[in-house]
Amino acid sequence: SGPLTVGEFAKLLRKEASEVIRKLISLGIMATINQEIDVDTMSVIAEEFGVTVEYKEEVDESNFEEQEENDDPEALVERPPVVTIMGHVDHGKTTLLDKIRHTNVTAGEAGGITQHIGAYQVEINNKKITFLDTPGHAAFTTMRARGAKVTDITILVVAADDGVKPQTVEAINHAKAADVPIIVAVNKMDKPEANPDRVKQQLTEHGLVPEEWGGETIFVPVSAITGAGIDELLEMVLLVAEVQELKANPDKRARGVVIEAELDKGRGAVATVLVQNGTLKVGDGVVAGNYFGKIRAMVNDRGRRVKVAPPSTPVEILGLSDVPGAGDPFMVFEDEKKGRAIAERRMAKQKEEERGGNKRVTLDDLFKQI
Ligand code: GDP
Ligand code: MG
Repeated sequence: SGPLTVGEFAKLLRKEASEVIRKLISLGIMATINQEIDVDTMSVIAEEFGVTVEYKEEVDESNFEEQEENDDPEALVERPPVVTIMGHVDHGKTTLLDKIRHTNVTAGEAGGITQHIGAYQVEINNKKITFLDTPGHAAFTTMRARGAKVTDITILVVAADDGVKPQTVEAINHAKAADVPIIVAVNKMDKPEANPDRVKQQLTEHGLVPEEWGGETIFVPVSAITGAGIDELLEMVLLVAEVQELKANPDKRARGVVIEAELDKGRGAVATVLVQNGTLKVGDGVVAGNYFGKIRAMVNDRGRRVKVAPPSTPVEILGLSDVPGAGDPFMVFEDEKKGRAIAERRMAKQKEEERGGNKRVTLDDLFKQI
C-alpha cells in the first residue's frame, strides 16, 4: 500500500514511463522510473492523461478481531457487572460514588482509598461490582460512538428535591441508545422537600415506569449523604446483573478499554484500563490505542500492586510508550513484533488522517478504478 513508483504508476495508466516522467518534469518534478510519487502527484498526473483516480479508504489491517481467540463456552465464568452513574449536575453522582466506595471496602483496606484511578470495585454479598467514574461521561460516549459496549448497567441519579432535568433526559437517551438497563436512584431522600413520587411521575413520561406502577424499572430511594438505601441499590445492581448473565473467559489474552490516561512525571504514561475479557498480567505486551508497551507494573483501585487483573477489573498500567486516549481499545499481543507493528500502523494511519483524508491507495485499488 501507499505510494507507487513512477514505473508502477505508468503501467497502471497504460502509458510509457517516459511519458509520465515528461509530465512530471513539466510540473517541475524531477523523477526517475524507480522513484516513488505520492498520491496527490499521481492524481494530478492521471488527470493530465484524462484519467480520474478515486481513493478508497484502506482496510484497517490492525483490527483486533483478527487475533481475538474464540471463547470456549466451558471456559466462561461469571464476571462482575460494570456500572456507570449518570444524571443531572448536582443531583449527587460524585457523592454517591464516594459513599459507595467508602462504605463497601473491607476493614484494613480503607487506607488505600485515597487512590483515584477513575474506576473501582466494591463487594457486597460476596459479589463484586465495578464502578466507572467517567468524568463528564466522556469515555462513555466515546466508547459508545465506537460501538464498544463497556457499561452493563446505568444508575440514573435523580435528586428527589429537584426532579427530572435536561441532563437526566440526556442520560436516559444515552442508556437507551446503548441498550443498557437503567436503575433509578432517587437521591437526597434525607431532604425535607424530597418528593419521590414526582420523580416517578416525571420519569414515567420518559418511558421509565416503576415496578410498583406496573412497569419494569427499579427505583431505589437513597441518600448519598446518610447512606440510606445504598445497600438495597447495590443488591438491585446484582439482581439486574444476574438476569444479564454476564460472562467472560479469564483464561485468554486480555482485551478491554482505556478509561483514562495521563503522562505522569515520574512513572511515564499511566493508563487506567478496564479488562473486559481475559486476564491481564504484568509482562504482557499490549497495544492501547496507537501505542505498544510491555506492562511493567499494575496498580489496583486500592493503590496496591497486582500481578493479574481478571475480567471486569479496573487497573492502572505502566509501561506504555505514550498516552492513549480515553475510550481507546487495548489488547494483549503474544507476538511482540506484531503488537509493535500494529501500533505503528495505527499511528501512521492517524497521522495520515490528520494530514487530510484517507489518501492511501493500494495497487489493487488503482487497478479496479482505471
Ligand atoms: P454531581 O454533580 O451529580 O456529582 O453532584 P454532587 O455529588 O457533587 O452533589 C451536589 C451537591 O448535593 C453536593 O453539595 C452534595 O453534598 C449534595 N448531595 C448529594 N447527595 C445528597 C443527598 O443524598 N442528600 C443531601 N442532602 N445532599 C446531597
Ligand atoms: Mg460530580
